[in-house]
Amino acid sequence: MPTEIHYPHLLSPLDLGFTTLKNRVLMGSMHTGLEDHRRDFPKLAAYFAERAAGEVGLIVTGGIAPGVRGSLMPSPSGLFNRLQLSRHKLVSSAVHEAGGKICMQILHGGRYSYHPMSVAPSAIQSPITPFKPKALTAKGVEKQIRNFIRATRLAREAGYDGVEIMGSEGYFINEFTTGHVNKRTDKWGGSTRNRYRIAEEILSRCRAVAGHDFIIIYRLSMLDLLPDGNSWEEIVEQAKMAEAAGATLINTGIGWHEARIPTIATMVPRGAFSWVTARMRPEVSVPVITSNRINTPDVAEEILARGDADMVSMARPLLADAEFVKKARQGRAEEINICIACNQACLDHTFNRKISSCLVNPRACRETELNYLPVKTVKSVAVVGAGPAGLACATVAARRGHRVSLFEQSDEIGGQFNMAKKIPGKEEFRASLAYYRVEVDRSGVKLHLNTRVSAGDLHGFDEIILATGVYPRQIEIPGINHAKVVSYIDVINRKVEIGGRVALIGAGGIGFDVAEFLSHAEDHPDSSQSSEAFAREWGIDLTLKARGGVKGIKAQPPPSIREIWLLQRKAGKPGKTLGKTTGWIHRLSLRNRGVQMLGDVSYERIDDQGLHISIDGESRLLEVDHVVICAGQVSNRDLADALAAKGLSCHVIGGAQKATELDAKYAIREGSELAARI
Ligand code: FAD
Ligand code: NAP
Ligand code: SF4
Repeated sequence: MPTEIHYPHLLSPLDLGFTTLKNRVLMGSMHTGLEDHRRDFPKLAAYFAERAAGEVGLIVTGGIAPGVRGSLMPSPSGLFNRLQLSRHKLVSSAVHEAGGKICMQILHGGRYSYHPMSVAPSAIQSPITPFKPKALTAKGVEKQIRNFIRATRLAREAGYDGVEIMGSEGYFINEFTTGHVNKRTDKWGGSTRNRYRIAEEILSRCRAVAGHDFIIIYRLSMLDLLPDGNSWEEIVEQAKMAEAAGATLINTGIGWHEARIPTIATMVPRGAFSWVTARMRPEVSVPVITSNRINTPDVAEEILARGDADMVSMARPLLADAEFVKKARQGRAEEINICIACNQACLDHTFNRKISSCLVNPRACRETELNYLPVKTVKSVAVVGAGPAGLACATVAARRGHRVSLFEQSDEIGGQFNMAKKIPGKEEFRASLAYYRVEVDRSGVKLHLNTRVSAGDLHGFDEIILATGVYPRQIEIPGINHAKVVSYIDVINRKVEIGGRVALIGAGGIGFDVAEFLSHAEDHPDSSQSSEAFAREWGIDLTLKARGGVKGIKAQPPPSIREIWLLQRKAGKPGKTLGKTTGWIHRLSLRNRGVQMLGDVSYERIDDQGLHISIDGESRLLEVDHVVICAGQVSNRDLADALAAKGLSCHVIGGAQKATELDAKYAIREGSELAARI
């Protein structure tokens, strides 16, 4: 019988003339933090080697600075002298030994560099960094160009298969190529030609030193998402220039970091920006790569089959699963651990100066430290609770060879993920649940649904693991038992009919999610499901007539279907505790929908009139139909206490162990780490 060919477009080779890529998957550049210290390069090499062994066609490293001024952080990392060669050789050879190919991204931070030595075309501070850059002199510009050339030469010497020149996202080159922050009047500013000169110089001179058998990718900002960004005609001109100057491939960059339009967060529809690359493809003859929110082989295949691009770039999906491509090739796509685009363990870590990892795969960037090795002694293991903590623990333990029974009182696995998946814009949580359904089966876990476990049921196991999660926190306010008070659980599960005016007590992650949930009509298609609706909501011009893709385009967020107040006792604006790279989107999305967010609130009482509050000593009545309590959680330790009373020892993980600062990242990591130890 002929073998079935899976994903024929995605898995077909790409001939670049002097070399052939085995498939159309580019692992896009991601800063992991492992690049920042010499001591971490062996870990970086192991991390990339796993992805190469997982059959990625071409890997691009995180951004490597071509000089000290271009470093994103005040660290001496980068590639600008021969002393740094050996650590980079470690990375390239590990990838080659695993059968892969790897390019080094040369990233000059420009005004996004987080240190006082930053330089840029003009001395204009960015809204997302505290340092004002120094405007480069003509001599200074030439010096920065020479740094790119030196980095390319060293990259070749270090054994890389090529480089990616970062020309998008608002970094150094992009700062020159648009008028947004390039106010120069010399040959590097003003006309389109003058603004692009820097990219042309860098590309052509890099090509000259690298020779013709070296990959040069140019990451072009195809949509700046700024009103004074480039016009489409200017961007096409730049792409043609990049091709003429020697680029082997043109990659797609979407949006400057300071643009206030989400580009990769979970509420961005899958493949939402491939239409931009599709418009570019006929304009050039080199292959083009598309990117952003491509997280399954089906989405990638569809994009390539439609002819939008020649390759797809995926970065976070390869943190989530190093074997993404291999599983797709082997017809095991349903076994892929899908990136849910939460940013919680990758980008949020980067911006908090922590090593990246992945919420759904805590091994990411810890390949040398966290390993799921076969067990020497097989144990019988009981795991109680099939939320994220219990699922991670049970499946990893079973894969290692233990006999695992997983008990869940409800009729489905997933715990609180079954609520998260119902929030508009968080549909990706369904993909995680689907993954775990397959993984439970494949790992050999014996799953017992509809089974509420009590202490008496747990005799005879070698290890008992409690992952029983949390209870909503009960709070004390006069009138708390009034009929209009409901819990977030009943709201999300649609157990109660919520009126047109509603107050939410508590503005943490769940308060924000419930506000989003209540602001949408039940049967209304969400913008997270359709690129057109998304573009309308955030004001993106799908015709590419507007400068920067946004100039003069009015954002049209659908107004909330209810009048909603989101409240907290803490002073200041609600939402400060949300994720670093996604919190602004949640705040902006609710503000655009007309949700009122109030801090410094004292709750006085709830009665037939509504919720009585005071702010700064001034009383106010919110005449609401319902008051939803989203005031955090407490651990469910019922079973742990009952076992302790019987003298049985157990491990307690996830929300059952710690309810404050609990999130799925913590729950999955704790479950996986325990399973790796027992
Ligand atoms: P749970 O998910 O609570 O699972 C516990 C499980 O144990 C449940 O299935 C329960 O039925 C079962 N159980 C309890 N007692 C017994 C018993 N005696 N016998 C058998 N079974 C039992 N986190 C994030 O990181 N990012 C997000 O974006 C995010 N969004 C969220 C959105 C919403 C609306 C909600 C509600 C939560 C969200 N969270 C998010 C939080 C995240 O889901 C939790 O941190 C995580 O689910 C905790 O995992 P857990 O396994 O410890 O507990
Ligand atoms: P949370 O983030 O701790 O927020 C609880 C809210 O309740 C706070 O606004 C708090 O603010 C308020 N509160 C606490 N005690 C109160 C009391 N006694 N009376 C009145 N108000 C009280 O918890 P959560 O929103 O339930 O979220 C649970 C976990 O899920 C979080 O750790 C979060 O990380 C995770 N989650 C994450 C996301 C995400 O997008 N990353 C989304 C959902 C959930 P005041 O004390 O100021 O009033
Ligand atoms: Fe994707 Fe979240 Fe993992 Fe980042 S942390 S790779 S966004 S699943």
